[in-house]
Amino acid sequence: MGDRLDFLRKALKRLQETDDICVEAVSSVYETEPVGYREQPDFLNLAVRIDTLLSPEILLSELQRIEKDLGRKRTRRFGPRTIDIDILLFENQERSDDRLSIPHPRMKQRAFVLIPLRDVMPDMSEVVPDDAGVRYYCDMDLPSCENDSHSPAKLPPD
Ligand code: AMP
Repeated sequence: MGDRLDFLRKALKRLQETDDICVEAVSSVYETEPVGYREQPDFLNLAVRIDTLLSPEILLSELQRIEKDLGRKRTRRFGPRTIDIDILLFENQERSDDRLSIPHPRMKQRAFVLIPLRDVMPDMSEVVPDDAGVRYYCDMDLPSCENDSHSPAKLPPD
């Protein structure tokens, strides 16, 4: 599946380069044993907090474009894949329709989701379930918002 960390680095860079998205915080990277189909390498997971002007639907399309550009291929559910980007939370929205469920429906049972999420949302109230099998792996640099147009939170200069 290639260099697992490199896929995360590339996805993070692509996210930061997307118009109207600013990456505000990046969690540590955690290594996780696969659930379900076990004949595959361990996964690397991280969580990102972004500031964005995009709607959840457009954000999902942008994330799917990044997945596609990074060559996501998957042959079976829970099987190996280059990259999987999900929306976990979006402000305080709650919704569930054909395309999008927010909060992400399975996040509360998954320590490999909640542990990185807690890094970028220290005030999170969710109780993290048994964290066996989730190991700290490394830290990533936070890519800077290079272009003001990528940073909706910034005010124009006086
Ligand atoms: P996955 O295979 O895990 O990447 O799931 C992809 C599908 O899940 C997409 O077709 C999305 O429309 C749908 N989906 C529903 N809720 C979410 C969410 N919160 N984040 C990402 N994908 C979602």
